[in-house]
Amino acid sequence: MTSHLYIGGKWVAPASTDTIPVENPATEEEIARVPSGTATDVDRAVAAARAAFDGWAGLPMVSRAGFLDRLHGCLSTRAEKIARTIGLEMGAPLKIASRVQTGLPLAVLRSYADLAARPAPAETVGNSLVVHEPVGVVGAITPWNYPLQQVMAKVAAALAAGCTVVLKPSELTPLVAYLLAEAADEAGLPAGVFNLVTGTGPVVGAALAGHPDVDMVSFTGSTATGRFISHAAADRIARVSLELGGKSANVILSDADVTKAVKIGVGNALLNSGQTCTAWTRMLVHHDLYDEAVALAAKTAAGYSLGDPFDESTRLGPVVSAAQRARVLGFVERATARLVTGGPDAPVPAVGHFVAPTVFADVDPSSELAQEEIFGPVLSIIPFGSDDEAVDIANNSRYGLAGGVWGSDERALAVARRLRTGAVDVNGGAFNPLAPFGGYKQSGIGRELGSHGLAEFQQVKAIQR
Ligand code: NAD
Repeated sequence: MTSHLYIGGKWVAPASTDTIPVENPATEEEIARVPSGTATDVDRAVAAARAAFDGWAGLPMVSRAGFLDRLHGCLSTRAEKIARTIGLEMGAPLKIASRVQTGLPLAVLRSYADLAARPAPAETVGNSLVVHEPVGVVGAITPWNYPLQQVMAKVAAALAAGCTVVLKPSELTPLVAYLLAEAADEAGLPAGVFNLVTGTGPVVGAALAGHPDVDMVSFTGSTATGRFISHAAADRIARVSLELGGKSANVILSDADVTKAVKIGVGNALLNSGQTCTAWTRMLVHHDLYDEAVALAAKTAAGYSLGDPFDESTRLGPVVSAAQRARVLGFVERATARLVTGGPDAPVPAVGHFVAPTVFADVDPSSELAQEEIFGPVLSIIPFGSDDEAVDIANNSRYGLAGGVWGSDERALAVARRLRTGAVDVNGGAFNPLAPFGGYKQSGIGRELGSHGLAEFQQVKAIQR
């Protein structure tokens, strides 16, 4: 069905015959073509979502939970196909494609089915009854790096809240969104509740962001595009939620378990070929542990085997596109810090958009390497002398999405509290799909996941009695 769009509960022909090629970044081969949607397609999808809104919003939340539960079932039966599709369209190694890229969005969908099945009791404030109502029609615009997870964080929460959705996935990785639309169809979601329009950002994304009948734009992607979306929504004062870039710090204090901190830190920075918004791309290490940490980080990163995402032994796939590879290598070539492994001349497979795992030491905290989001397998190591200095360096960023701190518990917790970011993991604390996820500063506005993510898609009404 990748020749069609999913609008109003049907697979429909797009308004234009123009298509967008989808490439396998590991082989550079074209694997599919999808419609290059237009503003006409967006109008049609928004009208379908608007027509479906009153009925969907009017259902009790527990009834919507039933639909989400069925959607979870229909998507779960496709889990293997989803992982393969993500491996093909964005190059994630199979283990990551299945455990993280597929397992996580299924867990998120499950969590919203469960949340919706047990709605919070009505709140009263004095003589007021406080009720939560869906925001309305949501335009969801998503990136390519976690192509189902970024979609699910929006769609599951929006549907649970009672919103209807028009999804525009990244033009680089649109195929997995088709599997979601198929599952939504099979699950019997009422017509128009979920709609899919593929296309480019400047055409379909811009039409959605600026559409007068879209009540909320939920965007995940780069800070530059997030700025554009904010402007586009400002004229009609539409609600906007933005999940944007990051440049997160992994702070290794003088009393940390340095082996664990470095190994997990390198793994975090390189996950998904470094194409993770929350990646700990700056490793801050106390002087006392610095030389040991640099040597261990170089050795660990060099051990990440690069190659075919479908080969069981591969730990690093390609980056998503030729343009992304050129961008990442640009940062590596311009860097003036000490290269300790990888670099622009390190061997990589001849075909495919591969970048060798690369580690720089003695990085100047205000240099391009330490300030810009590279979005590739590149780690910068920075020394510090005191906890205060570590906090200053970590917070010396226009981003504030995530971070890590390693050290004795109380001290690490104290440093974690001082970081200006939406999330911090202390001593390797595990990712929690129910905890609020989002950024400070230019990493975004709003929160996804769990009950905080649900609230993003709700209006609050006070009824006085
Ligand atoms: P991008 O901003 O280029 O594109 C994201 C989406 O926006 C795509 O669907 C694209 O087609 C669309 N788009 C592009 N131009 C547009 C326009 N003018 N109007 C409307 N829509 C437009 O980002 P990307 O390259 O796909 O993704 C990488 C970025 O996403 C990184 O910066 C990364 O940090 C960020 N990201 C953030 C999070 C988070 O949760 N904070 C998660 C994943 C990725």
